[in-house]
Amino acid sequence: MKKISRRNFVKTTAVSAASLSLFGLAGCKKTEQKTAAEQTTAAPAATEIKTEPIKTGNTVVIAGGGYGGATTAKYLKILNPSINVILVDRNAEHISCAMSNEVIFGLRDISEITMPLKRLADNHGIDFRQAEVTGLDGKKKILKTSSGDIAYDKLVVSPGISMDYDPALNFTEDKQASMPHAWIAGKQTEILRDMVSQIKSGDTVILRTPVALYRCPPGPYERACLFGSTALKKGAKVVVLDPNPQIMSKKPLFEKAFNTTYKNILQYIPNTKVTSIDFEKKIIKTDKGEFQGTLINFIPDQKAGELVFTLGLVENGKKWASVDPKTFESTLIKDVYVIGDAIDSAPVTEMPKSGTIANATGKVVAENLVRIFAGKEPLVPFVGNTCYSLVNDTEAIWIATLYEYSAEKNKIVTRNGANGIPEAASVENRINGDSWGNNILSDTFI
Ligand SMILES: Cc1cc2nc3c(=O)[nH]c(=O)nc-3n(C[C@H](O)[C@H](O)[C@H](O)COP(=O)(O)OP(=O)(O)OC[C@H]3O[C@@H](n4cnc5c(N)ncnc54)[C@H](O)[C@@H]3O)c2cc1C
Repeated sequence: MKKISRRNFVKTTAVSAASLSLFGLAGCKKTEQKTAAEQTTAAPAATEIKTEPIKTGNTVVIAGGGYGGATTAKYLKILNPSINVILVDRNAEHISCAMSNEVIFGLRDISEITMPLKRLADNHGIDFRQAEVTGLDGKKKILKTSSGDIAYDKLVVSPGISMDYDPALNFTEDKQASMPHAWIAGKQTEILRDMVSQIKSGDTVILRTPVALYRCPPGPYERACLFGSTALKKGAKVVVLDPNPQIMSKKPLFEKAFNTTYKNILQYIPNTKVTSIDFEKKIIKTDKGEFQGTLINFIPDQKAGELVFTLGLVENGKKWASVDPKTFESTLIKDVYVIGDAIDSAPVTEMPKSGTIANATGKVVAENLVRIFAGKEPLVPFVGNTCYSLVNDTEAIWIATLYEYSAEKNKIVTRNGANGIPEAASVENRINGDSWGNNILSDTFI
C-alpha cells in the first residue's frame, strides 16, 4: 500500500475515476483489457439503456434495505423507471453502521444516520414493504415474507452480517443489554453511547476486536481511538484485545495514534484469544492473561446475515454466500444475486466489507439487470472504495482503492497502483470524511 496525498491518489486514478463518475466510484466495464477511450464509455452505456424496451418480465425484488439493497432499488429506478422494484426490509428505517462510532462517542446524533425507507421509496417509485423475509422458492421464483409471497424475475439479497457467537464463551444475543457489541447499528448503539458517557477517572475499557473477515476492517481500530480519546479526557485506560496478528486496515496510521497520542493510556495486544468471560465480575480471560474492565465492548466474530442461510445461498460448511465474481449471481440459485457484506469475499474479491462497496456493488447489479432485461450482456465489475476513520474527535485518516475484475484470476482484484492512504491524520481529512458520510447517506437512502 502506498502513502500518498489525496491529490496524488486522484491523479493516479484519474482515467478510471472518469469512467466511474456516473455512479460515484462504481460501475461496470466491458473486458479486462481496455483502452482509456473504452474506460470512459462505461458510464454512458448505462444511460443508453434507459430508453430501451424491456424484453422479459421485469420485477426485481430486493431483500434488505441497507447500503446494498437500497442502492440497488434506487439505481434500478434511475436507470429504467419502468422496472417494477419491490424493496423488503424488516425495519421501517435503516440505521447506518457507517458513522455509528460517531454516535457512540457523542459526535453525531443518531437521527442523522437514521434513514426512513419510505422516503427513498416515495422519491423513486419503489414499492417498499416492511416485512421479515422468511424463505425462497427458487424454482417458482417466489420470495416468502411475513406479509405474504412475492413473485420475482430477479431477486437481489443484501442482508448484511450476523454474529458468529463462540458457544464456548456463552456470549449470546441476550447478553447485549449489558455488554453491547454495537456492530449492527440500532438500540445497541444507544446503549453503548450511554455507557461511554458514564466513563470516569480510573475506569478501564476493554475492546475485543473480531477475527477477520468482518464488517468494516478499520472500524474496530477507529473505535479503539475514540475510546482512547474519551479515556484521555476522563483519566481512564483502554485495553484492545485483538485476535488478529496485527491491525487489519490503515495499519501505519492507527499504529501511530496508538503509539503517540494514546501511548500512556492504551494497550494494544494482538494475537489474543479470549478463552472465557466472567459477566458478573467483568473479567475477560485470554491466552495472554486476565483483564478486568469497567466497560467491556466485545465485538464477536461474524458471518453472513442469517437470511442467506435461510434462503439456501450458502454452501455447506461455509459462513458467507457464494457468488460469481463477474455478476454477483448466486452460484447456488439462478436469478438470485447477493451483494454487500454477505458475500464470501475471500474466493471472489479483495474488496472489504464496507458500506461504500455495498453501495458500489448495488450499482453494478442494478446496471447489469437493466442490461439483461434489455437483452444485453452484463458488464464485469469496476468499483472503488473510500473509507474515513477518526483517530480523535477532530482528525481523520482515509483509505481509497479501485477494484476491477480479473479474467485471469476470475476474481475482483485491486487495480495496480490504485490503493493509498494519506501521510498523516488531519482536520482536513475529518472535514472531507463528514462530506463523504453525508454524500453516501444521500446517494444510498434519499
Ligand atoms: C462501527 C462501524 C463503522 C462503519 N463505518 C463504515 C465507513 O466509514 N465506511 C463504510 O463504507 N462502511 C462502514 N461500515 C460498514 C457498513 O456499514 C457495512 O459494510 C454496510 O452496512 C453493508 O451493507 P449491506 O447492504 O451488506 O448490509 P446492511 O447495510 O446491514 O443492510 C442489511 C439490511 O437487511 C435487512 N434484513 C436483514 N435480514 C432481513 C430479513 N430476514 N428480512 C428483512 N430484512 C432483513 C436489515 O434490516 C438491514 O436493513 C461500518 C460498520 C460499522 C459496524
